[in-house]
Amino acid sequence: MKTAIVGAGIGGLTAALLLNRQGHDVTIYEKEAHLGGRLTFQSNGEYRIDQGPTIVLLPELLKEILAEAGIEQDAIELIPCDPLYDIHFADGTVYRKWRDTKKQMGEIESKFPGESFGYQRYMHQMKKVYDFGTEAFLSKIFINKRSFLSLQNIKFVLSSQSYQHVSKYLASFFNDRRLIHSYALQTLYIGGAPHQVPALYGLISYSEHAYGIWYVKGGYASIVPVLEEACRSRGVKIYKQQPVDDIVVEGKTVQGVRTNGSFQAFDHVVFNGDYPMIDRLLPTNYQKKRQKQLEPSSGCVLVYLGVNRRYQDQLTHQFYLSDDFDTYMEEVVSGNEIPNDPSCYVFNPVTIDPDAAPADKSVLYMLIPVPASIDPSDKALYRLVEDQIEKIENSSFQGLRNAIEWQSIRTPRQAEQEGLYLGGSFGVAPKINQSGGFRPQIIHPEINGLFAVGASVHPGGGIPIVMQGARLLANYFKEEETKHVR
Ligand SMILES: Cc1cc2nc3c(=O)[nH]c(=O)nc-3n(C[C@H](O)[C@H](O)[C@H](O)COP(=O)(O)OP(=O)(O)OC[C@H]3O[C@@H](n4cnc5c(N)ncnc54)[C@H](O)[C@@H]3O)c2cc1C
Repeated sequence: MKTAIVGAGIGGLTAALLLNRQGHDVTIYEKEAHLGGRLTFQSNGEYRIDQGPTIVLLPELLKEILAEAGIEQDAIELIPCDPLYDIHFADGTVYRKWRDTKKQMGEIESKFPGESFGYQRYMHQMKKVYDFGTEAFLSKIFINKRSFLSLQNIKFVLSSQSYQHVSKYLASFFNDRRLIHSYALQTLYIGGAPHQVPALYGLISYSEHAYGIWYVKGGYASIVPVLEEACRSRGVKIYKQQPVDDIVVEGKTVQGVRTNGSFQAFDHVVFNGDYPMIDRLLPTNYQKKRQKQLEPSSGCVLVYLGVNRRYQDQLTHQFYLSDDFDTYMEEVVSGNEIPNDPSCYVFNPVTIDPDAAPADKSVLYMLIPVPASIDPSDKALYRLVEDQIEKIENSSFQGLRNAIEWQSIRTPRQAEQEGLYLGGSFGVAPKINQSGGFRPQIIHPEINGLFAVGASVHPGGGIPIVMQGARLLANYFKEEETKHVR
């Protein structure tokens, strides 16, 4: 069985290894010079830092899939982040999150007296949502919408009220707006806003406490060379800087791909680019208008800093929230300008990994969520970045401005040029009408032999979840094969 994988993001690489183990003859075509897609490093020679993913969630899922893909357990070292992170509010309050329930309850009572019972109720309720969600949504593909809208799923979603937006749902557990924001900001991880994302996605904030936040020694992107080496040693063919220009279809069946001007025959093609971009590769009669209506997730401005100071006393992950976080989030998903008072996330890996930067120095990354559509002038971008640097300098990273030796910035327009749909950083937006059975699926609805994995495809974005999508694809192939053997 010859299988082509178009794109070597984490979805493509995981699918390649899993399918190779099932006996497929796998070939990967990657348009860039590096593998990993969004999972890569930004560097200037002296400094190096993860360009995209930094927060490792659901470590057991990650390890389980890596093991299924044939990666040795000790090939990747996972280190727990505990405390998980700090959240800085505009009024100067700093809320610290912990893995341990008792410590968390103590932290809540000291900062938000009387609210710890709400936290307990939230964790208790979200455990049910998590357990149900992993079984009913994460572990299934939806060939048709009817299988998604099963009686059992509808019943659960209604009884748990997880159809409500995250903001409204959280208001039934917490009174203080700051606490609501502390359990809503995780919607940013998937490029959505608390007022539009269903509470089902609350399983992200739940999972942080329940399973922890972890760090991959060397940076998240250091898992890519491990996967690449595993692919090569097992005979998966990898072509870098070789974009696929067309997916060749005859009638309703995939025939192969066209790359470098020549046709290559395959039984199956797995698309791992950002899903709405598949249109450009398909024959015109399959280029559906429907896909143009998919809504991208939020975008972000990313700032990478190499600094000649060691910020050992600052946590690895920190969030700095806007004064009016709700309005800000509305601006991020519905506006088309740089928001007035942005929030930002800061990654400071030297605290957990002393080798992450040269001795006595640090390397930092600031992620500022913005509308995916913005195309700021140099002046506006400069202002945005300077303001955020000033903000984090004033509250935690003393002396930052004068310590900067290297600075590099990425914008949503760059992300779009590199292939992310309309500049959205995290795949199509995680709204209810683009989630579960309503999200693009692993199996193409019309073309036999065409499949897809990646952040815009069910079950959605985030490294372990995209890997789970690749696993669902591999399981599908396994089941199909069993049917044929019978
Ligand atoms: C700034 C940022 C921060 C993030 N933080 C986190 C985090 O902390 N934790 C987390 O779990 N997740 C995080 N994510 C999300 C995570 O990075 C993504 O969900 C995941 O990497 C997406 O993987 P993917 O398989 O969809 O492929 P992608 O990474 O999108 O890769 C797709 C690949 O396909 C290639 N390609 C596309 N078209 C073609 C073609 N025609 N021919 C050949 N090759 C092609 C591309 O070049 C690319 O290499 C973050 C994302 C961003 C952008």
